[in-house]
Amino acid sequence: MSSGIAYTLKVSRRSKHARLKMVPHEGLVVVVPEGYDRKQIPVLLHRYAAWIERAASRLERPQPDGKPALPNGLPCLVGFRSTGEEWQVEYDPSRRRSAERNGAGGSSILLPVDGSERDAARDLLLLWLRKRAAAILVPMLEEQSEAFGLRYASAGVRLQKSRWGSCSTRGRITLNTKLLFLPPELARYIMTHELCHTAEMNHSDSFWRLVERHDPLFRQHDRAMRDGWKYVPGWVTGHYL
Ligand SMILES: [Zn+2]
Repeated sequence: MSSGIAYTLKVSRRSKHARLKMVPHEGLVVVVPEGYDRKQIPVLLHRYAAWIERAASRLERPQPDGKPALPNGLPCLVGFRSTGEEWQVEYDPSRRRSAERNGAGGSSILLPVDGSERDAARDLLLLWLRKRAAAILVPMLEEQSEAFGLRYASAGVRLQKSRWGSCSTRGRITLNTKLLFLPPELARYIMTHELCHTAEMNHSDSFWRLVERHDPLFRQHDRAMRDGWKYVPGWVTGHYL
């Protein structure tokens, strides 16, 4: 049995049993007692593969997304992983309304509010986010729909708490605004998943076969979505730092 997982081995006199730990900057560490039969290590890694994967993904979690923010948690820079877009956020209470600016220095969103007014500023940011999501995600869905030959009746975006996407029996697809923050392959996977529901309104074997036809890596992507929330910045979810 070959595991292919990289780890550091540490022999501990005090340990009675072998154990695994995930250490920042070090990765997986296997601690074994003296005299431990090292041939057992691959078995151990295999048995705890799911834990290792979860612990490793927690380690990689950005803090919270590595972007500069105001002390109250509101962003100074917003990055959409799905497209690679980055937006500077400027809080300017002397302005009358929100505006986007695209110049040589990149893109900015100008908000007519003081950044210290957290709730009011966040409301405006979320409003803007929803507009960006509609402008980006719906055309992405349309493109995939045409490529796959899977038609939907209508589409929209919503800031949802617990679902990434949905497809109604009438063929209306709703996408979560937060898809903007996912890596492109995961955002596309959610769209593929919902588009396949236009043909198969269930999670039957034939549904998954259809998904696989359009996304051969769907298993990997579906698994990655279990902690897809880690990509969403705290100011969007409302969980401030
Ligand atoms: Zn589904």
